Amino acid sequence: MTTTPIVPELPDTKGLQRLDTAHYLHPFTDHAALAQKGARVMVRGDGIYLWDSDGRKALDAMSGLWCVNVGYGRRSITEAVARQMDTLPFYNSFFNTTTIPAVQLAAKLAKIAPAGFNHVFFTGSGSEANDTNVRMVRRYWDLAGQPERTVIISRHNAYHGSTMAGASLGGMSGMHVQGGLPIPGIVHIEQPHYADYGAGMTPEEFGIHAAGWLEERIRELGPDKVAAFIGEPVQGAGGVIIPPSTYWPEIRRICDKYDVLLIADEVITGFGRLGTWFASDLYGMRPDLITFAKGVTSGYVPLGGVLVGDRVADLLIKGGDFNHGFTYSGHPVACAAALENIRILEEEGLVDRVAHDTGPYLQQRFGSLAAHPLVGTADSLGFVAGLTLVRRKAANVHQQVRFDPALGAGMLCRAHMFDNGVIMRAVGDRMIIAPPLVMTRDQVDEMIQKIRFCLDLTLADAMERGWLS
Ligand SMILES: *Cc1c(COP(=O)(O)O)cnc(C)c1O
Repeated sequence: MTTTPIVPELPDTKGLQRLDTAHYLHPFTDHAALAQKGARVMVRGDGIYLWDSDGRKALDAMSGLWCVNVGYGRRSITEAVARQMDTLPFYNSFFNTTTIPAVQLAAKLAKIAPAGFNHVFFTGSGSEANDTNVRMVRRYWDLAGQPERTVIISRHNAYHGSTMAGASLGGMSGMHVQGGLPIPGIVHIEQPHYADYGAGMTPEEFGIHAAGWLEERIRELGPDKVAAFIGEPVQGAGGVIIPPSTYWPEIRRICDKYDVLLIADEVITGFGRLGTWFASDLYGMRPDLITFAKGVTSGYVPLGGVLVGDRVADLLIKGGDFNHGFTYSGHPVACAAALENIRILEEEGLVDRVAHDTGPYLQQRFGSLAAHPLVGTADSLGFVAGLTLVRRKAANVHQQVRFDPALGAGMLCRAHMFDNGVIMRAVGDRMIIAPPLVMTRDQVDEMIQKIRFCLDLTLADAMERGWLS
């Protein structure tokens, strides 16, 4: 099939920016600051590249927002979506009805999910999926005859979305201070962040230690009060924090011991990002519920959901009405996009490629950035990676000296990346990437070269401003 790329005429950037400032409230944005600069208007994507309204090209090392796993410009997804829209653009699943794409996707997900997952509940986003988790685990314990089990334990610096329950499950203090969060019944333990909390321990010792915080909290609350523990296998928005290998198996052991359900939020880690269909497989988590969104459609159309393990599904199904759902649960167009997206991942062997070829290559190339004078650590797993900007390097991560957060070293570095054609994200002074899974080895080289160049620019700024002395 030949495809003619659609290259729109360049629009009037200034005019769009004026309208944007006048009318558009963006997510997680300081609007006064944005109005000063004007938003960058993205107009086109192809593969791993984006073009803005001034015709500037950028390598998108963030896959949009962790989601465009198969890359931009996939005509077959467009066509699958168009076909479904022509045939049946919408129908619900409320009235003892269903649609063909929703059934097919549910069955497909049951095939690629870890063992013991045979059911799915569809939502429109990752946040709604985590709201669903809260309602579902509480319903489960009601049906199991233990209605006092209502508390859900999560972690500081976790990200689980931005609805009331999603933001409450998340551990972002900046979100909690706005709007009276977290809602009751959700508590947090510390994150398994070796660089921050693991001084004096090996990573493996620290993994066991950090999991122990869960056991402590369960005992404090009383095991008969705790419904579930939720965590991202690898923390994404918190700064690509990869836990020690001992952490998740120990968490699983503790959940088993106290009969607490385990929820893996795989909104980022699902659909190949770590070189497996789900990170739960990689880490031996054996969760009871799995949250997904983002990569399920590569972001082409919004879709999320919960993969429901047999333990919860069996009781839920026996229990009669579960009074929960969304107009767009199982939206046929979104499900059609997901089916085609998964077909592409399979046909092109992208999950294996990340596991055995481009993932290890990225690890080696990204890891080489650790030699840069400004970089403390640079680590990756599959197709997520993060590096920490430091004021003074040291072989031992606990002896490195970080920048005063008020200096905004990460944002300065990110601005250089943006200006020089590579899109990276800054979380404090941690610079993170999650590239499209279609990225080739040559493109990894191109990305690393650009990152290194921008690190040099940041280093020059830091020296000029006296940050290093
Ligand atoms: C993005 C994200 C969510 C929220 O998904 P939305 O679709 O933005 O609601 C939840 N959990 C994790 C781990 C995420 O990265």
